[in-house]
Amino acid sequence: MKKLNNIAVLTSGGDAPGMNAAVRAVVRTGIYHQLNVFGVMYGYRGMLTNDIFQMESKSVANIIQRGGTILKTARCKEFYEYEGRKKAYENLKKHNIDGIVVIGGDGSFNGAQKFSQEFDIPCIGLPGTIDKDIAGTDSTIGFDTAVNTAIEAIDKIRDTADAHDRLFVIEVMGRDAGYIALHSGISTGAEHVLMPERKTEVNEIIEELQANERRKKLVNLIVVAEGDETGGANEVARRIKESCPQLDTRVTILGHIQRGGSPTCQDRILASRLGYAAVEALREGIHNVMIGVVNDKIQYTPLDKAVKAKQEIDPEWFKIVKILAS
Ligand code: ADP
Repeated sequence: MKKLNNIAVLTSGGDAPGMNAAVRAVVRTGIYHQLNVFGVMYGYRGMLTNDIFQMESKSVANIIQRGGTILKTARCKEFYEYEGRKKAYENLKKHNIDGIVVIGGDGSFNGAQKFSQEFDIPCIGLPGTIDKDIAGTDSTIGFDTAVNTAIEAIDKIRDTADAHDRLFVIEVMGRDAGYIALHSGISTGAEHVLMPERKTEVNEIIEELQANERRKKLVNLIVVAEGDETGGANEVARRIKESCPQLDTRVTILGHIQRGGSPTCQDRILASRLGYAAVEALREGIHNVMIGVVNDKIQYTPLDKAVKAKQEIDPEWFKIVKILAS
């Protein structure tokens, strides 16, 4: 087995709270094993522009509690092309990098998978996305923080909804996945959760709202994932207003607050554990996998499987939403 000397770490694609904790864990575990650890700025773009620098233990001091990513993140068009990836490889070679840790979402793993097939630098992926839509792990770095931010905001909306007997349609993040909507909806007692994984029957929701009105239940919360097929919170509210003009219907789009903030305990622990495991895997010669945690155990998933597969949502959750909000 080739001896590991120099490794690089980068954050790529959509940012997620807890990425800093993962970077810290990679750097400190690497240094513990007497490796040289390099940070790559702005994801794959930094590999192309040679924005690569050696990190020390103190480079990651005081960041475990910070949202965002000190290494910055970006989307990089050139990396989709072979020529771009070759340029990235040549820059990494200048620093004698012999292992890369990519913290990002499935798009980033797609890039890492291609890169590792074409060149002789092994990659390890760590799931960093608020959406939790990656197979091979029970959660992703950033999901728990994003959900807790959504819950805090929705609880506040409930207070004002309750004071005025209003119906609120709240949009949360999730273009392809509804986990933030589902978890925040259940945790705040929402009457309905709309998400891309499930067909939305707005007419049925309207019928239920009308039935609720007859029994004087006027406060209703509808949590909508941005990727729901109906077209987001504004469209859902428009359809409701059309059929129920008498209801006082308001819309709140939570937006980017869900990406920021200090990571929760769960995200810090997940990020620390995965960052540590990434370096251990490289040292053991385990390559081109995403590392996740399944049933509280570290699990390796080949990068191509982490890319393609999506988790399925158990339909029982929707039954729970319905029963508990009735
Ligand atoms: P995320 O990792 O959050 O899913 P993206 O889908 O934007 O975010 O991917 C991040 C970056 O990974 C892209 O900007 C690109 O540089 C690289 N990437 C994504 N998909 C591919 C691919 N099929 N081939 C090569 N590089 C890719």
